[in-house]
Amino acid sequence: MTARKEPKVTANHVTSRVEDHARTSPTPLRRQYLEIKQRFPDEILLFRLGDFYETFDQDAHSLSEALGIVLTSREIGKGQRVPMAGIPHHALESYLSRLLDRGHRVAICEQKGDPTLSKGLVERDVVRVITPGTIIEPNMLQSKTNNYLAVVIIEGDQAGIAYTDISTSTFETTQLKTKLLAAELDRIAPAEIVVPAGQGLDYTAKIFAIDSLIPDLLGARQKILEHFQASSIEPFGCQDSPLAIQAAAGILNYLERTQKDTLTSLPTLRTYSTGDFMPIDPQTRRSLELFEGGRFGNGLSLCNILDHTNTPMGGRLLREWLGQPLLDVYEISNRHDMVEWLVSNPGAKMATTKLLKTSSDIERILTRIRRQIVSPKEVVALRRTLEIVPHLIDLLSEESNGLNLLISDLDPCIKTVQLIASAITEEPPATVGDGNTIQSGFSKDLDEIREISTNATAHLAKMESQERHEAGIPSLKVGYNKVFGYYIEVTKANVSRVPTKYIRRQTLVNAERYITPELKDHENAILNAHERMERLETSLFQEICARLSEDSSILSRTAKALARVDVLTSLAHAAFINGYTRPSVDNSNFLRVRNGRHPIVENALAKGSFIPNSIELSDETISLMLLTGPNMSGKSTYIRQVALIVLMAQIGSFVPASVAQIGLVDRIFTRIGLQDDLSVGQSTFMVEMTETAAILNQATSRSLLILDEIGRGTSTYDGLVIAQAVVEYIHSHPRLGCRTLFATHYHELTELARHLPHAANYSVAVLENAGEVVFLHQIVSGGTDRSYGIHVAKIAGLPNPIISRAQELLAPLEQQKHLGKKGINEAQLQEEGTRTQSQNPVQLGLFDSSTRGLINELGLLDISTMTPLEAINKLYEFQKLIKEAGHQEP
Ligand code: ATP
Repeated sequence: MTARKEPKVTANHVTSRVEDHARTSPTPLRRQYLEIKQRFPDEILLFRLGDFYETFDQDAHSLSEALGIVLTSREIGKGQRVPMAGIPHHALESYLSRLLDRGHRVAICEQKGDPTLSKGLVERDVVRVITPGTIIEPNMLQSKTNNYLAVVIIEGDQAGIAYTDISTSTFETTQLKTKLLAAELDRIAPAEIVVPAGQGLDYTAKIFAIDSLIPDLLGARQKILEHFQASSIEPFGCQDSPLAIQAAAGILNYLERTQKDTLTSLPTLRTYSTGDFMPIDPQTRRSLELFEGGRFGNGLSLCNILDHTNTPMGGRLLREWLGQPLLDVYEISNRHDMVEWLVSNPGAKMATTKLLKTSSDIERILTRIRRQIVSPKEVVALRRTLEIVPHLIDLLSEESNGLNLLISDLDPCIKTVQLIASAITEEPPATVGDGNTIQSGFSKDLDEIREISTNATAHLAKMESQERHEAGIPSLKVGYNKVFGYYIEVTKANVSRVPTKYIRRQTLVNAERYITPELKDHENAILNAHERMERLETSLFQEICARLSEDSSILSRTAKALARVDVLTSLAHAAFINGYTRPSVDNSNFLRVRNGRHPIVENALAKGSFIPNSIELSDETISLMLLTGPNMSGKSTYIRQVALIVLMAQIGSFVPASVAQIGLVDRIFTRIGLQDDLSVGQSTFMVEMTETAAILNQATSRSLLILDEIGRGTSTYDGLVIAQAVVEYIHSHPRLGCRTLFATHYHELTELARHLPHAANYSVAVLENAGEVVFLHQIVSGGTDRSYGIHVAKIAGLPNPIISRAQELLAPLEQQKHLGKKGINEAQLQEEGTRTQSQNPVQLGLFDSSTRGLINELGLLDISTMTPLEAINKLYEFQKLIKEAGHQEP
């Protein structure tokens, strides 16, 4: 997908419309609208008019079409109307996601100040532009997934990527080779990518191109320094990565442009290197079903299997770990230590889980506090989450369980907890201002106002009973409504008894409503108190939030540590319920897995019915496994499970195996299956070859290659020779020789193991008994030459007559193939010299089945009773038959 260019002409376009309208003298409101609209040509401008957000002109058409709402019109000058469509302001959020889903960007234009106070036209301006990557509305975000906005800059063979999730305040940047760009973007999975106008980006996502987004290097540095109020770029770690700096500045510019009034200061910027993690390319991500499942009928991905996290922060971090397997043996074993401790202390694990279940998404709450859009309820949720920290520290503190470092990041934030406890009530309302947010005792002023308000209310009750008594009307009521304020209500039947001081205000069907000067005084006192309470409470709440923001760095460190505890507990729980064991990871080139299982397939099958399989590969013995076996026997499952076990080990998880010793893998390459690629416009063979080429060019001696059915997308012979050449190349190229699993349908390739010292044949065992075929799903040493396709067709439900006919057709073909194959196999013959004459393929190879009858007849002839003429005639007859069968020697 190429980037969309920002239309530059729109401003002029709007100006000319302004001129047009000037001739028909548009209303001041229309002029205000057009002035604002010209600054947001690419967005649907939601223009606040009272209780509605209105759209006009083309925006009105777009809105009405996207949301299925009525298109009306509005007069904008004498006799001139323009299309208009609007949505109620309180329903904004529910409409926003639908607009974004349809690819629109939305600019929210609000009324500034108090519209009831202003004379003439209310001031209006855009307060925020909402795009897919800048959503902060909790209901529009998925709790366990980050919502990233990315900026990508490309220069030559280098690229800069910076990305942020403004709901969690994550802000990271990196510079990398363009060939790694797609894989890295795939890992980040941004909701929106912004690129400089004119720069293409070959990536499928919501891409927005923008002019003057990216400053030059000098300007970019300056932007970052200003944002963080820093004097040097070094602490951010990107001093040697100019494109990373520019991309990060691009993010800041874009946020400034879209977030307007809302405070968006990102607390910090982290520079990372893709070299610290195992890159996972899109096809590997897909074929190993790391994040999206479906192949095995249970719809589960590896992520689903491992995800037992109990907090949204943990859920997001688990996804991050899965996308970034580690390359440092020490760090990996540190994670294994922690998981192991939790597995072997089930009591602590359960108690930790229980505590985590009560935690809230404090990472997002912290961001909302910083942006001053947090609700009192969320602040209390922050306090409750922080209150579990001391208990967690107690539970997890034990010498040498590897958790020490993590615990040191877990801060109980006592000051914060105390502040919130003393300031905010236990069950506050969702919004501030009605007097129930701030604890009594926190502010003297507020307490005083509250007292006035409560006293006034009590006074009203007293007044009611007094008036009833004085007027002698027991049904008299004091009430309140928004239009008339406080009133005394008397039923029609009692109107004659109303004292003269009552002033009539409203007539109802059955009653009259009155006010008195005394009532008005009280009303003023109460309303005054309410207004003052609302103002004071709001400003106190803002003050509290500001104080909380001061500690935000320690709070967010604690949030991150909580997320880590959650992920480790989740991994421990997955290990516990699925019977995983701790792998050992070292720097060798070894790979040994005993009784390995496929974590997703085993989950789809009945408990205990998955057949475990082992593997042992090393560069000194066998590094390349050639795996042959019938369809549906379990080849793909087996080769994927080896890759998954390695990947799980390197994210810090336990693995489905009884023993796993893994020499660190720098990258897992997979080339699997044809069916997945059909969506790509290229021919399947072209895709297959392009991917194979990429693997062969990028793999190193430390990589793990999982190759399934290479060469299958073309004619048999081409496919066969390409597959063979690929195997030879991997096996013998000095840069490669890496651990490889090569599954193939080409039985001919089993021959290769004879010539390549580090290659060995394996196959999937099949049990044949009285015509019945059973796939044992067991990987055994040695090749196979049967494909059992008809058996699979039978299982798949092909009608019986087709199965019988296919068997009938196969019999002679198999025989022929058998003879033909043995005929050329001289090397094998020399080795297998113990064969009997009748099995000698060379001899049998001279004849086909049609001439087999002649041999039999020749054997049965009784020469002693034949005349010479009879013998010559018989000989002539035989020769004729042989000639007819085309077996005459030249
Ligand atoms: P094809 O060549 O057609 O892709 P395949 O040999 O790669 O077939 P898989 O797709 O790996 O076969 O496995 C087919 C099915 O066999 C799986 O969906 C699963 O139900 C079952 N299976 C595979 N391996 C095992 C195993 N180790 N234990 C139990 N069942 C298994």
